Amino acid sequence: MFGRRIKLFKLFGFEVRIDLSWVIIAVLIVWSLAIGLFPSRYKNLSVQTYWLMGVAGAVGLFLSIIFHEIFHSLVARRFGIAMKGITLFIFGGVSEMGEEPTSAKAEFLMAIVGPLSSIAIALACYGIHILGVSSGWPESVGGVVQYLAYINGLLAVFNLLPAFPLDGGRALRAILWGVRKNLRWATRVSSAVGLGFGILLILLGVFQFLTGNVIGGVWLFLIGMYLQSAARASYQQILIRKALEGEPVRRFMKTDPVTVSPLISIRQLVEEYIYKYHFQMFPVVIDSDKLVGCITAKELKEIPREEWGQKTVGEVATKCSPGNTIEPQADAMQALSIMARTGSGRLIVIEENRLVGVITLKDMLKFLSLKLELEK
Ligand SMILES: [Zn+2]
Repeated sequence: MFGRRIKLFKLFGFEVRIDLSWVIIAVLIVWSLAIGLFPSRYKNLSVQTYWLMGVAGAVGLFLSIIFHEIFHSLVARRFGIAMKGITLFIFGGVSEMGEEPTSAKAEFLMAIVGPLSSIAIALACYGIHILGVSSGWPESVGGVVQYLAYINGLLAVFNLLPAFPLDGGRALRAILWGVRKNLRWATRVSSAVGLGFGILLILLGVFQFLTGNVIGGVWLFLIGMYLQSAARASYQQILIRKALEGEPVRRFMKTDPVTVSPLISIRQLVEEYIYKYHFQMFPVVIDSDKLVGCITAKELKEIPREEWGQKTVGEVATKCSPGNTIEPQADAMQALSIMARTGSGRLIVIEENRLVGVITLKDMLKFLSLKLELEK
């Protein structure tokens, strides 16, 4: 479910995407508004009106979350932190940072601006609601605006919980980081608080469930589960980052990679290399280390099988791209982020068009677990 994203549009240069999980949540929101909240508060409207109000409420919530996330991204950009875009998923949005914030101050401002923008929308909607009541707007419009005021307030409060990686937890981490100048410690403390909050919400959810509030209980339980797993993952991420930062690619690479000659046929490539090694991509090399291109399984799919015997690797290979190459002096973190972006666990290491090695995710993880074990 996670990871299947649909691109929607670009705003201020940031790509806005939705995760498929959000579609399910959106349907649930529309449904619970149209069946539950609105009919119980506004008695004499038609069924059709309740559904229209439900859709309007969900769209309003969707726009509110984008507004919240866009402010995170704008402040991040202000501090020169690369942002990869905004993805709306199950419990709201995430602004995807390409890297960690550069300073405690940057992180604090970046974190706090999200809940502040939600509070701003809540107040604006509340104001519009008051105005609407005094000028006699229809109940249906007023109902949606009031719902948006309430839900944005709730969004601000939830995000302000000092539980990393929520905004409040990020702000807490920034303060701890500023005080002790130790990011790892600050992350450990704020993730532990996040974990605690997660477990608390899970227990609260179970309690609510058992005492009759089934739907509320399930929601609390799910949010608690999400929070505690996010807290764990964030702490692991920082450990990985700390362990790999400053380690050059050279340290992890294997210096005798499997290469193919441009002169062999595609059939030979498939039978003697792809079926034997199961790699997605092979460097094409002449004179033992001079790189002439890359060949991937993807390119082979476009060639009809009957031509495999005649066509050579040299005819099909393409230029190696920044998505599958890296330099030996580059930071290992950089290799990891290329792998995360492209989904490939293997990069070739090149130096001035010479092939010097191969770096794999597996080797990096092996190094990581050793290093973390030794430094415990
Ligand atoms: Zn936020």
